[in-house]
Amino acid sequence: MVVAGGLLPQAAFANGTPGGGGIVAPTAAPAPAAPASPTVSETQTVKLTRSQIKSVQRRAKVRADGALGARTRAALRRYQAKKRLARTGRPNLQTLRAMKLAFAEKIEKQLVARQRAPGARTVAGYAFPIRGRWSFGGSATGFGDRGGAHQGVDLLSACGTPVVAASSGSVKVKKRHGAAGNYVVITGTPSGEDQVYMHLQSASPLKVGDRVDAGSPVGSVGRTGNATACLLHFELWSAPGWYEGGEPRDPRRDLRSWGGAAAH
Ligand SMILES: [Zn+2]
Repeated sequence: MVVAGGLLPQAAFANGTPGGGGIVAPTAAPAPAAPASPTVSETQTVKLTRSQIKSVQRRAKVRADGALGARTRAALRRYQAKKRLARTGRPNLQTLRAMKLAFAEKIEKQLVARQRAPGARTVAGYAFPIRGRWSFGGSATGFGDRGGAHQGVDLLSACGTPVVAASSGSVKVKKRHGAAGNYVVITGTPSGEDQVYMHLQSASPLKVGDRVDAGSPVGSVGRTGNATACLLHFELWSAPGWYEGGEPRDPRRDLRSWGGAAAH
């Protein structure tokens, strides 16, 4: 079934609720401190589009000499020296901000999306999608429960616990839905399967098309949509993917193999 108009197909929920609706009370995990907002290196060289490079060249008062030639690098070093920035001769967040370029914010978001959450543990290219204490949900929270209507598993965890990408891929869907809450679908994973993350506390910082690595921040555990507890509802769909002809399968074994702190 193709997602028409970008809406989560209602038909998919005909037999019940999507996501983690109607689950039992969570086994209480102590609420972790609110995760610090991710930070990125200010001086790491960033990749710019051709028009962004032109803007940088204008600010550095250099005549365009191709993508990022020697003249531009020398001019950037002069500019950075004048502004007392790290003299890298390369475009970076620090320099873009000093130049008051509007796309600095966009570049920062891209860097954050690519950044592996600190401390994320990866197993053969996979990371457990919750960075903190969690447990499998109780009855009616497993794959195929509620008469087959439940197409993923519910992982109970304190609201606010960081959710990270289980593997590399790119964002296919990022939306809010009455039942699924804030959710994200990641496609193009190493296994070819789509991964679905539902009930996020707030809209994911990711955008459609963003690339992620295993451990990249996706959002935080929440209870948005039809969830009666703080939980991550996680799905795995075979190619060609989520509501595009793929089939959901039980992700429990995979989740176990990816480990995760205080796994039960
Ligand atoms: Zn669920």
